[in-house]
Amino acid sequence: MRVHVISDMEGVAGIVKVEQVAGGEAMFEEGRRLYTEEINAAVRGARSAGATEIVVMDCHGAGKGWSFNSLVPDLLDPGCEYVVQQQWTEYTGFLEEGCDAALLVAMHARAGTADGVMNHTVSGQVWQNLWFNGTLVGETGINAALCGTWGCPVLLVTGDRAACREARALLGDGLTTVEVKQGLGSQSARLIPPVRARELIEEGARRALADLGAVPPYDPGKPCEIRVEYKTTAAPAELRFRSGVEIPEPRTVVSRADDWWSAWRQFFL
Ligand SMILES: [Zn+2]
Repeated sequence: MRVHVISDMEGVAGIVKVEQVAGGEAMFEEGRRLYTEEINAAVRGARSAGATEIVVMDCHGAGKGWSFNSLVPDLLDPGCEYVVQQQWTEYTGFLEEGCDAALLVAMHARAGTADGVMNHTVSGQVWQNLWFNGTLVGETGINAALCGTWGCPVLLVTGDRAACREARALLGDGLTTVEVKQGLGSQSARLIPPVRARELIEEGARRALADLGAVPPYDPGKPCEIRVEYKTTAAPAELRFRSGVEIPEPRTVVSRADDWWSAWRQFFL
């Protein structure tokens, strides 16, 4: 069994503040240790469920050389391999080779979710809203659509209560979720201590992988329209000469193609 662990940092147990996820801040060193140990819990769970190949992909833009590179390498479980990307959604190799399941660890809720710890979509400064064929989505939707492009289902989502709720609404009740904190606001939460959260994630990963058919691979639909509402006019202006991309309003970009991956690639990568 081949398992992709796709992860972000805002949904880690023990992490609530921006300084814990921003590379270069003193608190970041604590944050990345908590992050790495939480990933290890998912890796242990996957292995005990029978995974023979596990590839971890960090999708957190921490800034500078820490972007997509926030895991502490020598703390990582030796039973996995990991990917460092230059850009989010750049690496699709493991999915292309054929992957049985994806586990999304430490996700946060989409922008505009009041009880979502550090809620945002892609960029808190630049992005406001994102729709796939009219469905409002966040980063769980992006990762799930990426996996779904190659027929890989997302079977587990962990993070705060809001992230888990968002994931179940999108992917259905067959999804296993592990809630490690309850957001009180964007920078406040009631938390399960990391040591116990890791036990829950290990157990959740094992349970989720017991039924590879519990959740169908996510497909936003064909053809696919991706709509992004930005916070400013600068980002759409940069995309104005891309083929397949329209700017119906000064802060909105629409990308249309036969399928989600084509529509995503033509404006995002
Ligand atoms: Zn992140």
